[in-house]
Amino acid sequence: ARVMKKAVAYLQPFIEAEKDGAKPANGKILMATVKGDVHDIGKNIVSVVLGCNNYEIVDLGVMVPAEKIIQAAIEHQVDVIGLSGLITPSLDEMVYIASELERQNLNFPLLIGGATTSKAHTAVKIDLKYKNAVVHVNDASRAVNVVSSLLGDRNKEYIADLKNDYSEFREKFLNRQVEKDYVSIEEARENKFKIDWNNEEIFTPNQLGITVVENQDLRELLPFIDWSPFFRSWDLHGKYPNILEDEVVGTQAQELFKDAQVILKRILDEKLLTAKAVFGIFKANSTEKDDILIFDEDNKQKVKFITLRQQAQRSKGKDYLALSDFIAPQNSGKVDYMGAFCVTTGFGTDELAAEYEKAGDDYNAIMVKALADRFAEAYAEFLHKKVRTEYWGYANQENLSNEELIAEKYKGIRPAPGYPACPDHLEKHAIWDLLKVEENIGVYLTESLAMFPTAAVSGYYFGSPHAKYFGLGKIAEDQLKDYSERKGISLQEARKWLNPNLADGI
Ligand code: SAH
Repeated sequence: ARVMKKAVAYLQPFIEAEKDGAKPANGKILMATVKGDVHDIGKNIVSVVLGCNNYEIVDLGVMVPAEKIIQAAIEHQVDVIGLSGLITPSLDEMVYIASELERQNLNFPLLIGGATTSKAHTAVKIDLKYKNAVVHVNDASRAVNVVSSLLGDRNKEYIADLKNDYSEFREKFLNRQVEKDYVSIEEARENKFKIDWNNEEIFTPNQLGITVVENQDLRELLPFIDWSPFFRSWDLHGKYPNILEDEVVGTQAQELFKDAQVILKRILDEKLLTAKAVFGIFKANSTEKDDILIFDEDNKQKVKFITLRQQAQRSKGKDYLALSDFIAPQNSGKVDYMGAFCVTTGFGTDELAAEYEKAGDDYNAIMVKALADRFAEAYAEFLHKKVRTEYWGYANQENLSNEELIAEKYKGIRPAPGYPACPDHLEKHAIWDLLKVEENIGVYLTESLAMFPTAAVSGYYFGSPHAKYFGLGKIAEDQLKDYSERKGISLQEARKWLNPNLADGI
């Protein structure tokens, strides 16, 4: 695809010069990452692959509001609209776009793609809102088949089959046996993960308060890069370094890796990306309602983190976890600690990617973004280690290899809002408040709570040796209500944000 793309860029002026000779495109596809979302690696790969199959792409970029997508679709008379999104709130935005197309009586077929999208969500939530075709396509190579079927001679049949398939799927999904039982939130709290706080030694951090890093040397982060997700972002699946020898994708993986090193070297030599961080360690105590209160050094409350507790019935004697279990409760009389952080390596990414795009080199434009993401994760790993061994200091004897870090062998955890233990994206607001993230390092939150620049990671630090990653799973109505009260938002808003974790949510 990348050779094709470059060749087309080279030939374009000649084709333009002899307009008549040019083969008309197979169709015009609008591509956009929806409002509130900033991720576009997947979308750009799909665009390149479609482009190489002689589809004309109208790429509206990221964070595109529904109105703009619809207006551009009409203006450019596109044949298909492709929507992309990575974080869960984008799912709602896609539903909204479908209902707007329906309301305005438009009939562009819709492609749905991105990490949190699924056939289930597409069938149950999006397809239902729209009379025309809606297809979940999470794979660049499949996109070509889907689009050619949507625009082919027998497209009426294809679309009718699609509609049937989704409607059957929906029916099955909605009638599925939701077998799970839930314990009440009170019962779950009674069976929390118990730590004997009277006999628990709490390590006093070496340094409390906020630290800002203005310009972290990227070279220092290199040894902390986890390369496996890099290959995954290009749809090459396998673990690094074994993937380089893989029977099926090995050759391609080697080539990709070699190309990555070229861009990596340029980024380092010319200092093209800027890495910044803000983090802090604070006094903290948990409450009976699973909140964690954060205090400044004068014991004045700064923010409240709201954590959620597992509720899906477990076998007798098993506990129901919430992150607050890892922090000493107020009534223990003990002073405990907790941290938070945000790192970014994203400043400079868009400029550099645009430079490659302008030269018709979409491959390396995507490469830049994939590498910036790798650096951000590496920075999170690097900083976490610094915090454990220096700023907090509870693990000053630690000596782990990068493989061991990737395998999370360290003491303590750094869960990230939006991930399984704490799927509530709204909690990022509390981190932003506490650390003054935007003022300090310029990373801001979109209306869907994606971070921008895109290559950014944020989360909490828990230092307790008991702390572990877990999945919240689904929660019941009583906790949803309790959560909305603790958070001071309406039940309806709470339902919207926690939808994927509700018993009947997707
Ligand atoms: N080495 C990987 C790390 C990303 S995923 C990479 O380079 O891409 C691992 C991170 O996701 C963890 O450090 C943590 O911040 C978050 N995470 C993993 N499991 C989690 C869970 N159950 N709950 C909350 N956050 C989790």
